[in-house]
Amino acid sequence: MPSPTRPGDLFKTVHDAAKYFGRTYNLTSIAKNKELSSYIYSVKKKGETLYSYTKAKEVDGNNVKNTPWYYQTPRGASLEGDAHTHGAYDPNYLNNQFSPDDMIGTDNSDFKVAFVVTPNGTLLKYTPAESREHDEGRIEVVNTDMPSDPKDPTSKKTVPQEPPDASTDSSKTPHPTQSKPPEGIRRKLD
Ligand SMILES: [Zn+2]
Repeated sequence: MPSPTRPGDLFKTVHDAAKYFGRTYNLTSIAKNKELSSYIYSVKKKGETLYSYTKAKEVDGNNVKNTPWYYQTPRGASLEGDAHTHGAYDPNYLNNQFSPDDMIGTDNSDFKVAFVVTPNGTLLKYTPAESREHDEGRIEVVNTDMPSDPKDPTSKKTVPQEPPDASTDSSKTPHPTQSKPPEGIRRKLD
């Protein structure tokens, strides 16, 4: 897969837009241990529907949706959904999957689709059910070779990448299963 792209670059499929979102942002998300989120949208060009992602924002407290999607997309764009990352590997969280809040939030939105890019380099897609109040949506694996956190034991580590933070000395880290997430660094995934 070619190098990272820029927000606003157009792709032929919504999956490609999500893949390039992950390609562009997952290493930054892992290095900063911050969740990043972009809207995914479509535009029509000469009768063809093309897809892109907006510039990612850090997910803090509430949500990236503080700014409505239509302020962040080109004129005439249609909202498809969103994509977000889950930061760095953390043994205390099941962050290689959608959180319940991710799915509930999508069910309660106008999104057609939601994507998450996880620490082990997986890109997952959530499609809400038609009748959102009664049925569960569908989760699919789109891709497993996103940039990943080498510290995640389930990471395939096949993607050449820089260490997330060269100044971090991982040998100082206490045994993962005995440590709690440091206060103020890690919060519940949303
Ligand atoms: Zn999430």
